[in-house]
Amino acid sequence: MTTGSRTRSQEWYKRAQQFLIEGVNSPSRGAAVYSSGPIVLERGRGSHVWDLDGNEYVDFMMSFGALIQGHAHPAIVEVVSKTIAEGSHFAAATSAESDAAERFCRMVPTAEAVRFTNSGSEATMLALRLARAHTGCTKFLKFEGHYHGWYDPYCLNAHSHPLDRLGPRHEPANIPDSAGIANATFGDVIIAPWNDLESLDHILRRHANELAAIITEPIMANMGCILPREGYLEEVGRLAHQAGALFILDEVVTGFRYAPGGCQERYKLRPDLSTFGKALGAGFPVGAVTGRREILERMRWGDGMVLHYGTFNGHRLTMRVIAKNLDLLAANSGAAYKHVFEIGDAAITGLRELFRRKNIAAVVQGYGPMFQIYFTNRDFIFDYRDYCQYADTSKYSRFVHGLLDRGIYMTPSNGLHWIISTAHTIQDVETLLRAADEACAEIA
Ligand code: PMP
Repeated sequence: MTTGSRTRSQEWYKRAQQFLIEGVNSPSRGAAVYSSGPIVLERGRGSHVWDLDGNEYVDFMMSFGALIQGHAHPAIVEVVSKTIAEGSHFAAATSAESDAAERFCRMVPTAEAVRFTNSGSEATMLALRLARAHTGCTKFLKFEGHYHGWYDPYCLNAHSHPLDRLGPRHEPANIPDSAGIANATFGDVIIAPWNDLESLDHILRRHANELAAIITEPIMANMGCILPREGYLEEVGRLAHQAGALFILDEVVTGFRYAPGGCQERYKLRPDLSTFGKALGAGFPVGAVTGRREILERMRWGDGMVLHYGTFNGHRLTMRVIAKNLDLLAANSGAAYKHVFEIGDAAITGLRELFRRKNIAAVVQGYGPMFQIYFTNRDFIFDYRDYCQYADTSKYSRFVHGLLDRGIYMTPSNGLHWIISTAHTIQDVETLLRAADEACAEIA
């Protein structure tokens, strides 16, 4: 599947730049990532997308993981059509929001109640406010290379930098990801390297009883795909509690993807709060905060409450989509999960074999529904510092541009990850492996 010209994409991109900064609405979609300018997508069905020039691709980015059911799933299309005809949103109590909440709480092990937001960023923002209110502490700890959305205090150390800027492991330097944020904000953030209990323990000893929370992604998904060492996440939870802090698990990427109950189910974790987004909404904008009811109860109206407003909270159309999505994911004893694991593992195994056969120094990390390729001489990428030091991100970008020319849609950013949806098939994997075989010529 070789793609043809992208003339119309290029023309559209030129025009879009007159009205949109970088021609898009997020820097991860523009020319900073796609060297020849973004490919303007026009249509999607199942696991495939089509661009403005009519080129067809197998989509392995899937809206950064939001499209767990692929594009235009018939059951989702049906529920959207029906619901929108009845009125999309009332900003009032609806049966749609409780239907969605009931299913959510049934599937997520630690969900004693849930509050829906409009994005993952809003969810992590709310989780931190709740943790601060609950503990009376302002500071919190986040890990290097973890991304929790674009709320001010989270905008630290989530981009890749040369090793000499990172500071010592026991006292990492604070490196802002954005201008325009008050310096004082970052004074409340403690940074630690991930997958390293010795450093965490050391850092926590300096901050005992002054932290509201430790927040972590269960699988590091914003430096590609980095798995936790065995027992690591349980220990982070234990150390958080020992330090008097809440344990917040950010499942925006992993939620409803690795298991019906996300990574907390898979790794048997008991976070005090957890945050969701992406796959929950099957392509609709949503986030959620869940966890211990006594913490969530702080949002109840009254003196000293935690404020959380939002015109679009519990958006009726989105809530109906969520209920349908969760029904699909729970159906037939989790057949959807069996499927995404089978397809994902076939892609991972196939890519590993390909790189071995071609003698290309690369590792493919992850399992099942999510993985990433690193061009490196190392056996593993264990953390942010490994990523900054050893992952050849420009080689990866060249490789993905080679795939884009051969009918595979993926972001050339090495910091993201490959996503398998319920719509992917073994034929899609075969198409990927054929394209990857040819694209290896681009990185020789
Ligand atoms: N947390 C994690 C782990 C994420 O990967 C993201 C988005 N990539 C967010 C939070 C923010 O979610 P959103 O983009 O929906 O605001």
